[in-house]
Amino acid sequence: MIHFVGAGPGAPDLITVRGQRLVRQADVIVYAGSLVNEEILKEAKAGCAIYNSASMTLEEVLEVLLKAERTGRSAVRLHTGDPCLYGAIREQMDALEREGIEYDYTPGVSSFCAAAAALEAEYTLPGVSQTVIITRLAGRTPVPQAENLESLAAHRASMVVFLSAKETGEVCRQLIEGGYPPGTPAAIVYKASWPQEKTVRGTLDTLPALAAQEGIEKTALITVGGFLEGDYERSKLYDPSFSHGCRQAQKD
Ligand code: SAH
Repeated sequence: MIHFVGAGPGAPDLITVRGQRLVRQADVIVYAGSLVNEEILKEAKAGCAIYNSASMTLEEVLEVLLKAERTGRSAVRLHTGDPCLYGAIREQMDALEREGIEYDYTPGVSSFCAAAAALEAEYTLPGVSQTVIITRLAGRTPVPQAENLESLAAHRASMVVFLSAKETGEVCRQLIEGGYPPGTPAAIVYKASWPQEKTVRGTLDTLPALAAQEGIEKTALITVGGFLEGDYERSKLYDPSFSHGCRQAQKD
């Protein structure tokens, strides 16, 4: 059996209980070395074969997983954060399916969740935004034209930009061009949940210089929106005058 596991954003105790159990039981682990905290691998049993996928191709990763399967060993493919975002997991699952090999998939805490924790923020504030846009700048992987940052900015929703910290200036420029006012709160979170975690707060027009001052260029998320500061409405869910399935409104 092959197990895809989300390792979480960095802190070794932010992997799920299930993910940690699978790591402890594994005979073979292939981990995404650029971002998975190697502390997590200390949980692996003695004799576990550990591969860093940072220098491997998809074909090489599959070869390791298929060999483990054929020799009756349990393999964990450890991805950073949650594998469902920029994880290149689909191509692996499809390849295993073609080979008729079973796998399962354990989610993890994505870095965008760890970034919210680092910022002590909530992306979906009533009266501010009820939508989170997760996106990136085009790099070697293109972004479909209909999803360019400028057009996404027109929604003025809460936004989290992955894989783009090297070009924070370009991100902010496109977002302003697309419709966010230049004074919109923006923050960059470096290595959320790692000991080196750093948060820098500013606005769309000041963030690029502030991030550059801190030397933040990678392993960071750019977050944008009124959720970062300012007014919001209190929730209906916990409003005494509001009834719902689990609670009757209080009479005053
Ligand atoms: N699947 C991962 C994302 C992989 S793409 C997840 O769910 O988080 C890699 C990008 O994720 C990095 O370039 C960076 O933008 C972001 N990232 C990953 N870990 C991070 C962390 N601990 N803090 C801030 N950003 C992080």
